[in-house]
Amino acid sequence: MTSLAIRNGKVFLESGLVEASLLIENGRIAAITKGSFLPSDQVLDATGAIILPGGIDVHTHIEDLDYAYREDYITGTRAAAAGGITTVLEMPLGIEGKSSCEVFDMQLESMNQRSLVDFGIIGAAGRASIPHISSLAERGCIGFKTFMTSAPPEEAELSDLAAENDYSLLKIFSEIAKTGLVASVHAENDAIIKGEITRLQSEGRKDFSAHTESRPPIAENEACLRALILACHTRVSLNLVHMSSKNAFSFIRLAKAREVDVTCEITPHHLFLTSNDGEKIGPWAKVDPPLRSPDHVRAAWNALRTGTIDMVASDHSPYAHHEKSSDNIFQCASGTPGIQTMLPLLIDAYTHRRLTLVQLANLTSTNPAKRFNLYPKKGVIAPGSDADLVLVNPRSQYTLTNQSIISKPALTIFNGRTLTGAIQTTILRGSIIYDNGAFTQKEGYGEFVAPLDLHRKPQMKKSETLQ
Ligand SMILES: [Zn+2]
Repeated sequence: MTSLAIRNGKVFLESGLVEASLLIENGRIAAITKGSFLPSDQVLDATGAIILPGGIDVHTHIEDLDYAYREDYITGTRAAAAGGITTVLEMPLGIEGKSSCEVFDMQLESMNQRSLVDFGIIGAAGRASIPHISSLAERGCIGFKTFMTSAPPEEAELSDLAAENDYSLLKIFSEIAKTGLVASVHAENDAIIKGEITRLQSEGRKDFSAHTESRPPIAENEACLRALILACHTRVSLNLVHMSSKNAFSFIRLAKAREVDVTCEITPHHLFLTSNDGEKIGPWAKVDPPLRSPDHVRAAWNALRTGTIDMVASDHSPYAHHEKSSDNIFQCASGTPGIQTMLPLLIDAYTHRRLTLVQLANLTSTNPAKRFNLYPKKGVIAPGSDADLVLVNPRSQYTLTNQSIISKPALTIFNGRTLTGAIQTTILRGSIIYDNGAFTQKEGYGEFVAPLDLHRKPQMKKSETLQ
């Protein structure tokens, strides 16, 4: 195997930024040296660059298979690589007539052939898939996903993930707890949402704000608390995905103080956009939970900086344009592409001093790796770890445009935003996969990742996420 040296960059080690050279052998970090240059077959000059651990996006719906018209594993993982993501955790799909295990096997086979980045696959844990939870764990799924809401007709691919009621959720958590894996939960109250949609539709509402009103913060807060209670009872490792409301953050903060095994994700759109922005953007900004008012966004930033939120994840959800083009917001699908823009937006937050570099690396790489049992193979730049790296030019200023988006919908709800700090190069297991606009490894280079050790509890302490 060839060796690669990366010289003259500023390397993010757990202690902070250090001027150092990296020696990579057999895809792993072999040495980190200050000053002296170790001999190598190839040399990459990283003068002026910051070198971060590769991004781990723990929440993607690339989909492919029956939904390849929206996105496939080639376009989706190219978009990931261009956005500095070296590992994706892909969400389960529902395909009519197939069990969760059959779909898992189909996703695994297809991603093995097509993914440019490393990938874990999350298993479906809805009511219908309870009998498959242990088999999915044996197959090496990285965690599970459950919806507390039912899937609307326009999102049939998510129907296998719905818990339906609290009894099902209790059984699902009990089964997942036996596996030691993480239970990721979409927490919104189904009855409140259905009631509000019925009310709004009876008033003839179909505008963008009607969607926002149909999923009020109380729907998220109530479900968040209920998930916490059931998780405590079953001792499952709970991960609350794309949280967005002020009171939910307070509940999670309290639960963490009581040592409940819970983590929390947020999306970039819930951090960087408000419901007012959503009204201007239109259906592509229809997401669940909806974009919130500025006071919730402020609470989110506070929760992000104080360790209540552990991870930023894209919830990448590409759709075909016809699925987003109805003039009735209730008939447009929920979700938006975000895999390529997540890390760039957070790097911009770092260059504008809204986040420290330690927070940035924790939120996008170290905490995800720890929570999903991939650490220290992933999530850190240290001897023995996979050489998954992102080279960032912190001074480069550029504008995000739809034309630069590699995902099939070819758009971003952040179109036109000027960012400081550009991703130059993405390296996966010592091989350059993306370099200044070019993809330099072929599809299928990405490898399947299974949890490293199911019996080891996550090691995330507050001190590691607090500044
Ligand atoms: Zn999702």
